Amino acid sequence: MPRMRKKSDLPEKTCPVCNRPFTWRKKWERDWENVRFCSDACRRKGKAEPRSTAA
Ligand SMILES: [Zn+2]
Repeated sequence: MPRMRKKSDLPEKTCPVCNRPFTWRKKWERDWENVRFCSDACRRKGKAEPRSTAA
């Protein structure tokens, strides 16, 4: 079996806005547990959802 170098070793999450899986990125290494969205665009959309009264 060939040893292919896969990215599947990296953790994945599913973006709740676009419902697509996204993979760990270096820039998130310190903040991965807080990352919920695949991109800034989705983050804006996600935050735009009124969850509770404005802070
Ligand atoms: Zn997304």
